[in-house]
Amino acid sequence: MESAKMGGELGPGLGRIRRRRWYVWGLVAAYLPTMLIAIGATSSLAAGGVAFAVWFLLLSTAVMAAALARCPRCGNRFHLDGMTLLPTRRCLHCQLPIRGDRGKKSA
Ligand SMILES: [Zn+2]
Repeated sequence: MESAKMGGELGPGLGRIRRRRWYVWGLVAAYLPTMLIAIGATSSLAAGGVAFAVWFLLLSTAVMAAALARCPRCGNRFHLDGMTLLPTRRCLHCQLPIRGDRGKKSA
């Protein structure tokens, strides 16, 4: 029974991993606009420093959450092998694709 996991059962776990990956990429993409707005609106480098500190804190949290996400199939850290963090599109342990719950449904 445990070996017969289908895409539907993996869906919620993989969806959570994908969402955490999007937080990381979204924060990376938001870096430049955030800094430009913070410094441009206040003409102050100190405001830029505060904005950077807040951004860095959010990014660290998002990266940590993504790194600690567990693979829904093998139960290991999806992106973490020992101390090595690799944002690949497959589980580092069982090679489950990040979209392994999609494209295999007959309907
Ligand atoms: Zn896995």
